Amino acid sequence: MRCRVCGGELEKRILDLPFKVGDRSTIVVNDIPVLQCHQCGDIELEDPVMARVEEMLKTVREGARLEVIQFAA
Ligand SMILES: [Zn+2]
Repeated sequence: MRCRVCGGELEKRILDLPFKVGDRSTIVVNDIPVLQCHQCGDIELEDPVMARVEEMLKTVREGARLEVIQFAA
């Protein structure tokens, strides 16, 4: 797989990433397996990973301004 921004090589990494939920909430998901570009640092999530993250974001309690959760496949 190649970076869609610069065409550079992607490498597998484990990162903590913040996601915006609604207008006010930020959810930080720890230890997400991602693909990151060597050259430009652009991050891509594979479809199953993204789907799992979206599922997890739905379980976060409403109204939380900042929540940190652990990625679990
Ligand atoms: Zn790139």
